[in-house]
Amino acid sequence: MYSFTDRDGTSLTLRPEATAGVVRAYLESGLVHTDPTARLWYAGPMFRRERPQRGRYRQFYQIGAEVLGRDDPLADAELLVMLNAYLAAVGARDARLELNSLGDATCRPVYRERLREFGQAHLEALCPDCHRRLERNPLRLLDCKVEGCRAVMERAPVMRDSLCEACRTHFTAVRALLDQEGVPYVLDLRLVRGLDYYCRTAFEVVAEGLGAQNAVGGGGRYDGLVAALGGPDVAGVGFALGVDRLAMIVAGDGEARPQLAAVVLPLEERAVGPALDFATRLRREGLAVGLEPPGRSLKALLRGADRQGARLAVIVGEEELKAGRVTVRDLVRREDRPLALALDSPGADLARWVRAEAGA
Ligand code: AMP
Repeated sequence: MYSFTDRDGTSLTLRPEATAGVVRAYLESGLVHTDPTARLWYAGPMFRRERPQRGRYRQFYQIGAEVLGRDDPLADAELLVMLNAYLAAVGARDARLELNSLGDATCRPVYRERLREFGQAHLEALCPDCHRRLERNPLRLLDCKVEGCRAVMERAPVMRDSLCEACRTHFTAVRALLDQEGVPYVLDLRLVRGLDYYCRTAFEVVAEGLGAQNAVGGGGRYDGLVAALGGPDVAGVGFALGVDRLAMIVAGDGEARPQLAAVVLPLEERAVGPALDFATRLRREGLAVGLEPPGRSLKALLRGADRQGARLAVIVGEEELKAGRVTVRDLVRREDRPLALALDSPGADLARWVRAEAGA
């Protein structure tokens, strides 16, 4: 939690994640009665008082989706199919889905005891944090990053061997649906989520090249959460994606720039107004368009436009102003191919023309 005392002495706590808030809204708004199988999403800043490092900030952004009121494996699978499609659509190609089942209130306590016994038997090899985890929440032993603990936990019993019949059936069905849809995943039998209300399906999206903080997103089933927040016994499953880390794997640390269709070049002060108007109309039509101030030679301006990767230069000089037109040049074919376009032509037609010429 990121908690601190505000100037007037009130204690503030900033939200670390949104699932609990979504569930609270689901209960307080009455959706639990009017639309019990709600599918909800959110996006926004989250705050955690962590030690900042690459990919780990005190303020970061998450996009999340939650399906409430559904305990069937189809809900888990559909969510993961959507997540997979989303990652592909934004170009997160190296992201890998890791999957596990955490069991439920029937079988997990049995597993927890097995893990506790295993930990007790290897006490001397575990770090002080793990000694504490052993008492409070033995599942977290599987999470420890300390090398010595990891080596010990390699040999620890895994949840899969303790799953009850109902959980085993659920997990098998989720996996069969993912296989059917060609969603790739790897089983990670040591993947856990610390909080008690998580059960059955648990997953993480990890990406190489992110360093120590390699999780791009995570989620799973939380059938006990609605009841824990004072609601009825309603199931839920969802995920949260870290937008900051997603941006790191999608755009190579923000180096990618949009491909410009055209750069508009007013050659003198009087052309500035019409040039801005021309660029604005193209931008309203969704084209990425550059605009440079006058003052340099035409040659220098064209070289600059070329360096920005634009396909076309739109020139507005003295002659063009007089004729009420612009001159368009193709910078890729290096063709001096003056084309006249009306300065006040309607945006949509113009955009269609520029798009076709620029191949945008
Ligand atoms: P969690 O709620 O811990 O499962 O986090 C879900 C995702 O949010 C993670 O996979 C990260 O991508 C992102 N995330 C969590 N904590 C941070 C942080 N401190 N800085 C940046 N991203 C974070």
